[in-house]
Amino acid sequence: MLREIDSATAVLEAEDAGESSELSHLDQHPADTASEITDAGEQGALLENFADRKAQVVAALARLDDGTYGACVDCGQQIPDARLEVRPEAARCLADQEKAEAAE
Ligand SMILES: [Zn+2]
Repeated sequence: MLREIDSATAVLEAEDAGESSELSHLDQHPADTASEITDAGEQGALLENFADRKAQVVAALARLDDGTYGACVDCGQQIPDARLEVRPEAARCLADQEKAEAAE
């Protein structure tokens, strides 16, 4: 399970690095067209998603350290293995995740 999270972290870091290098590439051409400005905005949103996901992975690693990994942070019940396989960084069971997203 730890290995799964490690590989998820590695993928996210690789994606993050890729996005960053593209952004600095854009920075080197400030006089480009309006469409590229839109692209930069979309990349900013993507970066934000990566940062969010990365924060979730880091939080999952912290839960691994303190032994609460796999338990829903809201109701404390064990998150189903099938869910953890898809989202190893998941902090909540599906029901609480849906509630949390609805509350945002
Ligand atoms: Zn729950």
